Amino acid sequence: MITFKNKHITIFQSPIYQTNSSVIETDDMILVVDPTTLPHEVVKIRDYVTRVRKDLPVYLFFTHSDWDHILGYNGIGEAKCIGAERMITREDKEQILAQITSFDDQYYLVRDYEVRYPHIDYVVNRDGQQLKIGNTTMTFYASTGHTDDSLFATIEPAGILLSGDYLSDIEFPYIYHSSHDYENTLNKVEDILLNHSPGLLVPGHGNLAEDCQEILRRKSASLAYIHELRSSLEEEDEERADMLLHGWRFPKVMGEFHKGNMALIREELQNAKR
Ligand SMILES: [Zn+2]
Repeated sequence: MITFKNKHITIFQSPIYQTNSSVIETDDMILVVDPTTLPHEVVKIRDYVTRVRKDLPVYLFFTHSDWDHILGYNGIGEAKCIGAERMITREDKEQILAQITSFDDQYYLVRDYEVRYPHIDYVVNRDGQQLKIGNTTMTFYASTGHTDDSLFATIEPAGILLSGDYLSDIEFPYIYHSSHDYENTLNKVEDILLNHSPGLLVPGHGNLAEDCQEILRRKSASLAYIHELRSSLEEEDEERADMLLHGWRFPKVMGEFHKGNMALIREELQNAKR
């Protein structure tokens, strides 16, 4: 289950959607990111944290509130939670919890902790907001577009960039909130790379990236997908829009996400005409 490990970070990748949970160890803190997915996987992360935490404070960072990213809340032991303000104010928390219940139900999954919606202790409501613990600095950037409560985070001096559900090599953009915000978020990436020079990108799903060129390649591929999708829908050329699905590994489920993107962008185009 551990798919990557160095001095600063251990990645626990779930086979479910290839979701990455991170445990970051610095001299000052332990930072757990989006612990998920199957019950025994959450237990493994909890056991690992218990083993390495010593006297250090444990923080739990949620990149956003999608069900598969929050379901380990309450499952890894005591921790202070970090998340966007919008995670607190959103009104569909019950629906998110219902998605977890339905997943557990479908596969007869039993958890040894109570699934709850995260209580956020440290609220991020500003672009570039920093949290300093000893010599460790976390910098947060609003990354709306996928959802409206998404955040990027850099961890220094460890040199890590956490991108949540952006910059994946196994998914095209899944746009639930706004395609324009999604583009703005991608357009922040270059500055983040310049300002923080991260040596490791950890996306929510898929493979890590250790070099800048690969991160920028993913950024361009995501932007190209959005531009091409919008332009084909402007021309009402659905066949052209569907060409974007070629080459992806899991066409059945990804086709559904692609359709969702099409519906959202169509609505944006109609609203722009009004
Ligand atoms: Zn996700």
